[in-house]
Amino acid sequence: MRQIFNFSAGPAVLPEEVLQQAAAEMLDWRGSGQSVMEMSHRGKEYMGIHAQAEADLRELMGIPSNYKVLFLQGGATMQFAAIPMNLLRGKASADYVHTGEWSKKAIKEAKLFGKVNIAASAEDRNFTYVPARSTWKLDPQAAYVHVCMNETIGGVEFNWEPETGEVPLVADVSSTFLSRPVDVSKYGLIYGGAQKNIGPAGLTIVIVREDLIGHAPSGTPTMLDFKQQADNDSMLNTPPTYSIYIAGLVFQWLKRQGGIAAIEKRNIEKSSLLYDYLDATGFYANPVDKADRSRMNVPFTLKDAALDDDFLAGAKARNLLQLKGHRSVGGMRASIYNAMPIEGVRALVDYMRDFEKQRG
Ligand code: PMP
Repeated sequence: MRQIFNFSAGPAVLPEEVLQQAAAEMLDWRGSGQSVMEMSHRGKEYMGIHAQAEADLRELMGIPSNYKVLFLQGGATMQFAAIPMNLLRGKASADYVHTGEWSKKAIKEAKLFGKVNIAASAEDRNFTYVPARSTWKLDPQAAYVHVCMNETIGGVEFNWEPETGEVPLVADVSSTFLSRPVDVSKYGLIYGGAQKNIGPAGLTIVIVREDLIGHAPSGTPTMLDFKQQADNDSMLNTPPTYSIYIAGLVFQWLKRQGGIAAIEKRNIEKSSLLYDYLDATGFYANPVDKADRSRMNVPFTLKDAALDDDFLAGAKARNLLQLKGHRSVGGMRASIYNAMPIEGVRALVDYMRDFEKQRG
């Protein structure tokens, strides 16, 4: 057992079993005499690892056969550009829902490629909620509707799947990937970086409906063209082989946990433990509307910000690490992804209670 609990927002905690397995296979992957890091990406061994990872992801998420799964690089941030490049399809504009820092970045980038219509925004209440679907002003001519399913900084999550009719729904799931069931058939495109729930940084996953690709304008760089990536099994160039291997081990770990429905139950249990405590004290606070709270990233403030440094130092002394909030908002943030054991959340709540007793 490891001695610490890591609450980092990403790169983030990975399942200990996966790290043990990777360590055991580090020098000699299954009798091949090589580390996965040293394998040719065109060789039989690596090709097998790659195909298995995709097959396991398809099984876990129930991805229909008319969707492509792409293993890319450049982070979700690269997708902020690649999505309008590929999905505008000659249309004049796209709809974006603005729920916080990450949707803001996606909006800024999309404006480089076309007109952006802000269909709904939570700015009026400092991004502490998800605007109700009934308030969205969607354009039926829009190329797509973009949402950020979990705002990693604000701790605001869609706890429902939006309906957008004929207009394809595009979702950034970077910080909620594989933490709850998703009906893939409701989406045109789902994307996210791996470094939170899936594996090491360096891998970005795009799941896209086939009819939406193949429309990138001429002049689109080859690496950014979803059709070219799909036609080449994400191997136009050297893929991030080691990150894909670890992601594959995480997918198998998730299957051993009972799949996404089982992991969702644990995520509800873990996040409720923390939110129930936050709501019961007057010493800590979380500003997000209850219905829209994130199960993955729990930001909270102390009654007196002057106590922040002492809180963090005391947490560190108890081996509770990386609780400092994002630099743009301050306070604290506990990221409790799939791989965070419930014992970690219990240890955090125990510490928060003790700190409140001493300093409250
Ligand atoms: N979207 C969300 C919701 C994120 O949390 C992040 C990273 N924290 C990004 C996009 C950007 O991801 P990347 O660093 O992989 O480009």
